[in-house]
Amino acid sequence: MATIGFIGLGNMGGPMAENLLKAGHKLRVFDLAKASVDKAVAAGATAAASVAEAAKGVEAVITMLPAGPHVRAVMLEEGALANADKGTLFIECSTIDVDTARAMHGAAAEHGMEMVDAPVSGGTTGAAAATLTFMVGGSESAYEIARPICENMGKAVVHAGGAGNGQAAKICNNMILGVTMIGVCEALVLAEKLGLDHQKLYDISSQSSGACWSLNTYCPVPGPVPTSPANNDYKPGFAAAMMEKDLKLAQAAAQSTGAATPMGAAALALYGLFLNAGQGEKDFSGIIKMIRGN
Ligand code: NAD
Repeated sequence: MATIGFIGLGNMGGPMAENLLKAGHKLRVFDLAKASVDKAVAAGATAAASVAEAAKGVEAVITMLPAGPHVRAVMLEEGALANADKGTLFIECSTIDVDTARAMHGAAAEHGMEMVDAPVSGGTTGAAAATLTFMVGGSESAYEIARPICENMGKAVVHAGGAGNGQAAKICNNMILGVTMIGVCEALVLAEKLGLDHQKLYDISSQSSGACWSLNTYCPVPGPVPTSPANNDYKPGFAAAMMEKDLKLAQAAAQSTGAATPMGAAALALYGLFLNAGQGEKDFSGIIKMIRGN
């Protein structure tokens, strides 16, 4: 079992840290929110007074922070890289832009550290149940050191390739999700106008060429899939604000690489409107209401 520094104990990081403690690791934790640190300490972690203290004298440092600027700040300005022992493995689990992830790999190498970018899918329920999927970018050797630690927090740990490819996989996947959800919502609203029952369309399309996760598993109207957020007044699940963030990251990556992603751009514009309507805290499938016009 390892001694691990854990920085960022929010909705995701908090339960992930608890699963590492349950697996028998020693944790040195830091977060700006004292209540989050106290909770982790009650579960068996040791509190660190700063980022630098959390990163010093440990075998691995896990970061689970809101966005790219927070990761840059923690790694570079607040001294995670400067204070860790040489050879410490950084497991950066936040969802951030690919360019920042690759820049952090470069900075880690300059400091003599190993690093993987390892964003997750599975949400807060997956974080609590240790059933996250980790998409890992970095060298084969860094992946092999990270894998058993990630396995204590997840059900699948996939090596996506070199530096930044974990983030690349995450934003490509979520762009598919955002685009297909809007397509499914449009089809269900068209069906309403045509007098076709939601259940009938579901029964047909979920077994036809329209089948996809957004329809089959996460159907955005109540009824066909009883576990989908549509049956619970669109309580997330996966908040629309998170989807908008990931679509923005996909568009930033498309711009920096010259990839043509017109459907991704359209999905981002629609989720932007949904957020402006004050719906950012609703599940992202709730966008069907805006598409329907109510
Ligand atoms: P969160 O806002 O709940 O937690 C982030 C934590 O980072 C907070 O506790 C905050 O105090 C802490 N923090 C910020 N700056 C810090 C600093 N300089 N030093 C120490 N702590 C600092 O966010 P979350 O929901 O846990 O998400 C974390 C990341 O995981 C995000 O990048 C998000 O996109 C991604 N993600 C979230 C979900 C989800 O369902 N919530 C799912 C998959 C991926």
